[in-house]
Amino acid sequence: MNPFVRFLKKYRYVLGALGIVLAVVLVAVSAAKRPVPIATKTFAADILDSQRENSAEAVAMGETYGVVTVDGVAVASLATYEEAASVLDRVLAHYQSGASEIVSYSIDETIEARRVIGVPWNVMTVDGAVSLIVNGTEEVKTYTVGQGDTFWSISRKVGMDFQAILAANPATANSMLRVGDVVNIVEVKPMVHVSITERVTVTESVSYGVIYENSDAIYIGQYALKSPGVRGSNKVTYEITSVNGVQTSKEKIESLVISYPVTQVTYKGTKPLPNVIGTGVFRYPLDGTRTINSAFGIYRSAFSGVHTGVDLSGWTGDNIYAVDDGVVTFSGSSGTYGNLIKLSHGNGYETYYAHCSKLYVNIGDIVKKGDVIGLVGMTGRATGPHLHFEIRVYDIAVNPLDYLP
Ligand SMILES: [Zn+2]
Repeated sequence: MNPFVRFLKKYRYVLGALGIVLAVVLVAVSAAKRPVPIATKTFAADILDSQRENSAEAVAMGETYGVVTVDGVAVASLATYEEAASVLDRVLAHYQSGASEIVSYSIDETIEARRVIGVPWNVMTVDGAVSLIVNGTEEVKTYTVGQGDTFWSISRKVGMDFQAILAANPATANSMLRVGDVVNIVEVKPMVHVSITERVTVTESVSYGVIYENSDAIYIGQYALKSPGVRGSNKVTYEITSVNGVQTSKEKIESLVISYPVTQVTYKGTKPLPNVIGTGVFRYPLDGTRTINSAFGIYRSAFSGVHTGVDLSGWTGDNIYAVDDGVVTFSGSSGTYGNLIKLSHGNGYETYYAHCSKLYVNIGDIVKKGDVIGLVGMTGRATGPHLHFEIRVYDIAVNPLDYLP
């Protein structure tokens, strides 16, 4: 027997199997390389309708799968045409801001779902295909925000450009990050540019006004609530346009009143404060050693300006004494002063005691020189416990060290 024929006979089964495998590979490769579009879906409903008959025909002809194309180039294969069509809806939904009504949209590119005959390879999940189209990558790496994280600190931690990390998170880039938020840490290169105009309806709170009613039951400078204000609420509809999730315009198109705000009524005191004339000789406002932490008149900062008093060294809880007989003209919280007491000693003299941890007096109280009026603390703008002490003569701050013993 011819050796070649003997070889063929001996290995006929193996050769046969190899032949089948080769044929299947060739068919698969040619099918994958040149998908035959039978049915397509774009976002335009009329195109979809015109393709319905064709798609029924394709099902009759044999095995089909779905492909998503962007500007005619296949970017993702899916197990079925229906899955490919759902990718389109999901891409649009990705750029929609939650519960809104889409007014109109446009896509710079032509994105289509097509039904093709053949056996797909490299099939993606719907999630993977959506991510690929909106992010440029099938798998998005994320970072969960921890305590103290900012976009800047995250960009340092993960070694990503600051601008790129902002671009990858269009929805959260303009707002504050909260612990537990998940941010994308993959540079986003979307395959499509989706412009959506949508209507968003929100309930907005409306602030209330305050009117004052004079009352001679309370001292001048004192206020008391007569009836509290209540915030109102409006149902407001905005028309928002955004391109790939980045807002480009926001217009208020309707505002309906749900409830009107209720004006607050506050009593304003008209009762004159008792006029107390002090001895004119001041005592030191603290016990113990007398250390000045910060002198009068020195320039602190553009924000704080010139120091209007002296900072007397003390510990939280140390007694604060009235430096002379007087009447309390203020006792409460006051901005950078923190808890503040003001005493009037007559003849235009006033003393201030700031950053207190405790206030023991109320407006209108008459105090004697040496009475404990509060305790040292560090409320308001203070880096450590101390007493910020001021003397004012007709409201002009003077150097307390000229008056203290
Ligand atoms: Zn001070």
